[in-house]
Amino acid sequence: MRLISLVVGALFVLLTSAGALVASERPRLIVVISVDQLCQDYLIRFGDNFADDGFFRRVEQEGAAFAQCHHRHAFTVTGPGHAVQLTGAYPNQHGIVGNSWFERLTGKDVYCCDDPSVQLIGLPDAKGVSPRKLLVETTGDIMKLASGKRSKVFGVAIKDRVAMLMAGHNADAAFWLEDKENAWTTSTYYRQDLPGYLRVFNTPLPTERLRAQTWELLLPKEKYHNTGPDKNSWENPPKGFTSEFPHVLPGKEKLTPQDFAELALRSPFGNEVTLEGARAIIAGENLGKDGVTDLLCINLSANDFVGHDFGPHSLEVEDMTYRTDRQLGDFLRFLDEHIGSGKWTLALTADHGVAPVVEYAQQFRLPAKRSPLGKTDEVKAKLEARLRDRLSTGSAEKPLVQKVEDYQVFLQQDHPLLAGDGFFTAQTIVRDWLLEQPYVVAAFTREDLIRPGSGKLFQQVQRTFHPQRSGDVLFVLAPYTVPGAKGTTHGSPWHYDTHVPLLLIGCGIRAGRFVQEVSPAAIASTVAELAGVDYPSANAESPLRDALK
Ligand SMILES: [Zn+2]
Repeated sequence: MRLISLVVGALFVLLTSAGALVASERPRLIVVISVDQLCQDYLIRFGDNFADDGFFRRVEQEGAAFAQCHHRHAFTVTGPGHAVQLTGAYPNQHGIVGNSWFERLTGKDVYCCDDPSVQLIGLPDAKGVSPRKLLVETTGDIMKLASGKRSKVFGVAIKDRVAMLMAGHNADAAFWLEDKENAWTTSTYYRQDLPGYLRVFNTPLPTERLRAQTWELLLPKEKYHNTGPDKNSWENPPKGFTSEFPHVLPGKEKLTPQDFAELALRSPFGNEVTLEGARAIIAGENLGKDGVTDLLCINLSANDFVGHDFGPHSLEVEDMTYRTDRQLGDFLRFLDEHIGSGKWTLALTADHGVAPVVEYAQQFRLPAKRSPLGKTDEVKAKLEARLRDRLSTGSAEKPLVQKVEDYQVFLQQDHPLLAGDGFFTAQTIVRDWLLEQPYVVAAFTREDLIRPGSGKLFQQVQRTFHPQRSGDVLFVLAPYTVPGAKGTTHGSPWHYDTHVPLLLIGCGIRAGRFVQEVSPAAIASTVAELAGVDYPSANAESPLRDALK
């Protein structure tokens, strides 16, 4: 008997000492913030100008920082990078392979949240969206399941897909600023009206109070690390701004409220509007006010807009980072006041980084190039010619290549020549042609990707590949290759696109700086541990145990 009680006692100690918080110690509210397009490089380069009462210094003192956090899938764009964070899964499982993808049955592109069965609140003519194309559940969904829906789960962002893909299928709601009206909205998928606490911001539009405001440098110019010419030809400022500071927002006489909002959101003001929405949700929904842990997912999209337009070595991105630091410092103080110090936990990461602007990188003799393969139609025509030549087919027959898009080649799978082994042969012909092209560094066929394989690049592409939603040959271009004529973008498996911050602060978090390689996908199981629930079904990453008390 005594032995049994000893064994039971030891087992109890084991179960309760493995980092698990007892119910009373759990955070009342967990906030996950994804800054859209935030490179870890910014924390390295700009660290000395962060504010003493800002976000990053407070995390340095009280929180946990993972300095080697990388996205582990290849095509690092917004939809997939956000779906990763709270499903703990990669596109090969969560199914969000791009912001949109080519659907071979209909021959059309579908948006990752398209859903014609629903409508947007207050905007009956807008296209319906929901999270239904997300193939797995999020930690928020598990919190709902485990608590019999008593956990409250919300998402908020400028971009619809981000709010929905972080919050999940069974969230109470995801709210965003609809991109034509630029008013707060949600989908009838979640609810039939917009709550009053957000409706009050819609008339006039939430950005109207920003009329005639100016985005100036926050600090004296000599403090900035980016010293390239502010006035230049490679940046791609939105209509209404130039490449040079200050950026002045027009007054009431210029631009319709919708067009004005479009411009105002492409600046630090965009994050202010988002965080205003987040505060309203916390207060309006009484988040973090009872013993059941709630979850709020926030995306700061304005950093992405500014990053695309001006690039990571611009004064604009540097200033944006300093302003994000101050805005989030304020937000932590709001959580302290509203939820209570020690009663909330916050995780911050990003959906991707960004490539340097090609013309800027060339000044440093980096091997940068825009669209090295030329237009996708030209690539398609060349591939078609090669396939016809190798498969000895006449020009009158229907095309063998259906589409070339987003580093993928889709073959016309129902073509008679591609029946049986012809399909494998055609994939190989496409792959080998791609590998002959300058700037193509890897190409993998469907047959390669459905089997186990080694090598970092192969595994990154494999995590991006979904058998029903991806193409038949996927390829990777060399570092510093960027599409488009101006500005810059992300979407590659290279370091500058994959390396993002992962920071934790608050209830249940052990302070420290950790150097092991981790992924933003680890947030899903980490949040699950903090909330005291099991992990989402396709979770692929262990929780960040070193940072958990
Ligand atoms: Zn993004």
